[in-house]
Formats: sequence, C-alpha cells, structure tokens
Amino acid sequence: MNIILFGPPGAGKGTQAEILINKFKIVQVSTGDMLREEVKAETDLGKEAKLIMDNGELVSDQIIMSMIKKRIVKSDCKNGFILDGFPRTLKQAIELDKVLESLKLNIDKVIEINVDEELLLKRIIKRVSESKTTRNDDNSETLKKRIQVYKNDTLPVIKYYRDLNKLHTINGMQKIEEVSKDILKLF
Ligand code: ADP
Repeated sequence: MNIILFGPPGAGKGTQAEILINKFKIVQVSTGDMLREEVKAETDLGKEAKLIMDNGELVSDQIIMSMIKKRIVKSDCKNGFILDGFPRTLKQAIELDKVLESLKLNIDKVIEINVDEELLLKRIIKRVSESKTTRNDDNSETLKKRIQVYKNDTLPVIKYYRDLNKLHTINGMQKIEEVSKDILKLF
C-alpha cells in the first residue's frame, strides 16, 4: 500500500499518518523528518537545508528527489510507504511519477486533509503558545510563511492529482477520530 498524504502545517497530518502506518504496516517517509536528521547530524546537506527550513522556504527539488530515490528502495519500504511532505512542488510530482514507473510501483491513494486557513492560523497560534515543539521553524512568522508556501507551491500539486481523478479530500476540521474514520473509509 503506497499513500501520499497532503495537508498544510497544522492539519494534523502526523496523527493521521501514524494510524495508517499501524493499520497497513507500512513506513512513513517524511522529507521534513529526513531533512531534520541531516541538520542534526550536521552533514553538508543539513547545513545547506537548515537556513532554508528556518525561513519556511522549500529545499531544492534536486536534493529532495535524490533523498526520496534512495529512501523508497530500502527494504523497510517493501510493504509500502506513506509519503508525508512530498511531493511539494509540481516538479517533484512529475519526477516521482518517473521514479515510480522505473520501480514498477504505484500510488494507491492520494489523500488531502483540508483545513481552512483561518482555523490553521488559530491552531498555529495555540501550538506556538504551548510551545511543546523543539522545531526551529515552529514560530508564528515561519508557520505563516509555510502556509503561504503551501498555497503557492503545493496546492498546484493537489490540483495535479485532482485532475488525474486520484485525489481524495478529507475534512480536517473535525475531531481527530472523525478525520481518521473518514480516511479509513477510503480503503
Ligand atoms: P510542515 O510541518 O510544514 O508540513 P515538514 O516537516 O514537512 O513541514 O518540512 C519542514 C521543512 O522542510 C519545510 O518547510 C521545507 O523547508 C523542508 N521540506 C520538507 N519537505 C520538502 C519537500 N518535499 N520539498 C522542499 N522542501 C521540503
């Protein structure tokens, strides 16, 4: 089972990904997590990515594609994977199609968790004030920037899958359990 999960920052993507991972015994491939590991390990890539991430901007498609290509051929992906935070640009989506084709793999479901911008901003203010996070890019200015980048770069990707009739949109403005229920109904 291979899944793509879309959702703006604050949509509750992580929570829902967890449920799908347990249900299908698949792994989560989060480009954000992978980049944060590189930053932590202070690799060259990590050093390059850090400034971009701290600004809420996007790391280059080239870096992301090379990370993804290496990741999805690892043995833990043999049951399948959830792509989280990827593809984030049209270029990445088109490149992904090519990579999947060469590996004879398919995406089974493309799911978008949809949340109004107004509610996202409220959630973000709450998340920042509770500041349980240790993420450098979790401050309200950067989060607003990330939502903006999501709208500019990632909504066209969502449209790409919608036009291909592959997209399932889920109302993310309900209780966590309700969102999960709606997602699980797709399978
Ligand atoms: P969010 O919580 O906003 O969804 P992520 O944890 O997925 O964020 O990613 C954090 C940051 O890592 C992004 O703001 C961006 O700088 C970088 N990043 C993650 N995935 C990608 C990607 N597919 N393409 C470009 N940049 C990415």
